[in-house]
Amino acid sequence: MKITGDLNLMKKINKSIVLELLRKASPLSRAEVAKTTGLTKATVSTLVAELMEENLLYEIGTGESSGGRKPVLLVFRQDAGYAIGVDLGVRDIHAVLTDLKGTIVHETRSSLRGMDTPEQVLGRLKDCLRRLMNKAPASPYGVVGIGVGVPGITDDKGTVLFAPNLGWRNVPLQSLLEAEFKVPVIIDNEANAGAVGEKEFGIGRDVSNLIYISVGIGIGSGIILKDELYRGASGYSGEMGHFTVHADGRPCRCGNVGCWELYASEQAILAEAEALLSPDAADDGSGAETAAEADDSATEVPRQAELEALASLADSGNEAAQELFRRTGRYLGVGVVNIINTFNPELIIIGNRFTLAERWLAPSVREVIQERALPYHRERLRLEFAGLGLRSSVAGAASFAVSGFFADRQVSVGMNG
Ligand SMILES: [Zn+2]
Repeated sequence: MKITGDLNLMKKINKSIVLELLRKASPLSRAEVAKTTGLTKATVSTLVAELMEENLLYEIGTGESSGGRKPVLLVFRQDAGYAIGVDLGVRDIHAVLTDLKGTIVHETRSSLRGMDTPEQVLGRLKDCLRRLMNKAPASPYGVVGIGVGVPGITDDKGTVLFAPNLGWRNVPLQSLLEAEFKVPVIIDNEANAGAVGEKEFGIGRDVSNLIYISVGIGIGSGIILKDELYRGASGYSGEMGHFTVHADGRPCRCGNVGCWELYASEQAILAEAEALLSPDAADDGSGAETAAEADDSATEVPRQAELEALASLADSGNEAAQELFRRTGRYLGVGVVNIINTFNPELIIIGNRFTLAERWLAPSVREVIQERALPYHRERLRLEFAGLGLRSSVAGAASFAVSGFFADRQVSVGMNG
């Protein structure tokens, strides 16, 4: 392909460079855009005019003047379109509608209690998506895409190959949703989505090498190396929940024994906590199951209160609950140490449900890191809990959809040009 001589293509590339800059750093003046990109002021003016025509930029008042005429500032039009991000959990669906900058404008949670087949879950998922589509304000581009994070292994065609905790095998989720909603759909692992969410909007913003560990019913991880999500040869990387921490341990649904998630996940701690939680606490919220829809609010689905109940129990001074968190935190730490020694990351983020019990888990995890991680690896390492709390995955999933929209634009203008 002839690139250097193709002025039209050069122009398209420059245009996306200008747009990328303004998406990340607006408001900026035309002069600042020229300075930062190295393009001439005349070129910037032409490109900006086109982007304004395409409803992707607008002008606001005036910026700081260094004497003389005050510059007009350019702003990325973040409400030119919307994206949907979904965290398809084992026990509920959490979904958000965001603008093109990732600002959440609507949020919904739906319980999956009692829904066992992929068809039932898919039905509920489509309900959520339809509701959010209808909530999207009028805009030039409408809903530009849907990103879905799933607790399992997905392929590059958006098929969920294996999601042990959902009981799914070979569900062609992307094509099913695209057929229904007629917008591009991106399916990825929920921990990958969480890692990207934290990298784009959360605690990982200024970090190039981070590992996001999603601890819910199971454990997954998203690996970001040199600012890029690492997917492995086939896109299956990050299944750290299934690395072995006990050579002769308990049997796991994956077919192996002694997997990390059997000892350090929400499921693991709740199994052990059953005896601690009073019948009242265990039943808490079960009456609310029929009122499964908790639409448009950030409130938790009440029936998922078990981990919260256990944390409250620990808060109230219950030593057995505190000891259980300590033990689980230490198991979590053992896996984290292996990750630290392998990847030498700057940042490990514990995300998903365990963020709710940070106060009880963090000390034990840090203690184990201090005791066991190689000293060189420990030097520059930070361990944090997710900055976005329970929203890392939905934020990342929505950002997959937004990135897809802008990537498609670049390809299509490049090819047509
Ligand atoms: Zn396993």
